[in-house]
Amino acid sequence: MELSPTMLAAYDLAAKHDNGLVRFPGGYWAQEGWDSHSKWFSTPTIQALVSRGVATYSRWYEGRSRFPIEITLSIAVLHCSCGAALTREEYQEHQKRGHDSAITTNKGTP
Ligand SMILES: [Zn+2]
Repeated sequence: MELSPTMLAAYDLAAKHDNGLVRFPGGYWAQEGWDSHSKWFSTPTIQALVSRGVATYSRWYEGRSRFPIEITLSIAVLHCSCGAALTREEYQEHQKRGHDSAITTNKGTP
């Protein structure tokens, strides 16, 4: 399963901020201290990162309903179905070699 450009952008933002993103009221996901003028990501993008094993939910809101309010990147590497384990930078080079549809999930550091 390919990681979409949006998913990779969310991954990058998290990587730059202690490997995490938090949820703000209204369902905006961004770094801690987000000022609402900079980049944010929607809940479906965050769900996609989690369902592919790129991130895990690390904090939940506990109230009348329970929902995730923080993700933590679960991996430092991306795994391609060809067997390659890649950093984010290597992933971009790998894509250029025609592996862009072969990225699967992340199962932890090798
Ligand atoms: Zn590959």
